[in-house]
Amino acid sequence: MAPALRREFLSYPSLNLLGMTVPVTTTLPTLSPSRAADFKTCPLLYRFRSIDRLPERPTPDQARGTLVHAVLEALFDTPAGERTPQRAADLVEPQWQRLLAEQADLATLFEGTPLTTEEFLATGRDLLGGYFAVEDPNRLEPAEREAYVQAEVEGKLVIRGYIDRLDVSPAGDLRVVDYKTGGAPREAFEARAMFQLKFYALVLWRTRGVVPRVLRLMYLKDQEVCDFSPDAEELERFERTLLALWQAIERATAARDFRPQPSRLCGWCAHQALCPSYGGTPPPFPEPAPPALPPDAGDEPAAGRDE
Ligand code: SF4
Repeated sequence: MAPALRREFLSYPSLNLLGMTVPVTTTLPTLSPSRAADFKTCPLLYRFRSIDRLPERPTPDQARGTLVHAVLEALFDTPAGERTPQRAADLVEPQWQRLLAEQADLATLFEGTPLTTEEFLATGRDLLGGYFAVEDPNRLEPAEREAYVQAEVEGKLVIRGYIDRLDVSPAGDLRVVDYKTGGAPREAFEARAMFQLKFYALVLWRTRGVVPRVLRLMYLKDQEVCDFSPDAEELERFERTLLALWQAIERATAARDFRPQPSRLCGWCAHQALCPSYGGTPPPFPEPAPPALPPDAGDEPAAGRDE
């Protein structure tokens, strides 16, 4: 779904309406699924990412996820019937070169790792093989890819994010598809992934008046598909949960009180050195507290997307 890397190229908020992308401005605070999930996972992690806005160097896993997402997006530019594993493999190198040209910090991606570019690209191709094991891309035409969506919640909050792929059946049923490329244990991130999909389902329901029929997680490494069908009642509950979460974020910001909440996800946290749970000291709280992150900035770091 950025991923930090792939989202950075889309720097202006927009709204996808009936297939047209139009810019949108808002004075309301905005929340992405990744940032909401950060707060749920660990309030201090939310602070580090959304308030202190500490930089996070991309990891090979994140970059591989970005690359595979880019290839899968480009694959559907190829006519149906020609979307073969070989075609996907052939897209890897040019897409990687494009990402390298656009994202300066990828140049040092392999520093301190035993990985070579060739090995890295080969593992990307392996994941694409996993994609073909679970789906034949010649049998569908996505309605949208990398679709920016946003919706207002009770006039208090704008929720927004990017959907990897949106499929629409001839009957108008929506299927939200999210590719997962990470190598981390799935169970550690599954709740977070489902939270993200419900988030998108809520946005689509509120903007298009249709509850998506299917929310699909596609695990390329495990070659598994996980489908979930939400209903309106569940999305209403989820909406209330999101508002409560936002209120908790506002309270924490007012009190300058974001506590660490250690969990197995700490293993993927880039900020352990500053975390009191690991003997660190957070930097002074930025004053005044910065406004909500602009859309796209650091929208989906690795923990939210692929792991
Ligand atoms: S190391 Fe763990 S507890 Fe500390 S900020 Fe990161 S996620 Fe939170």
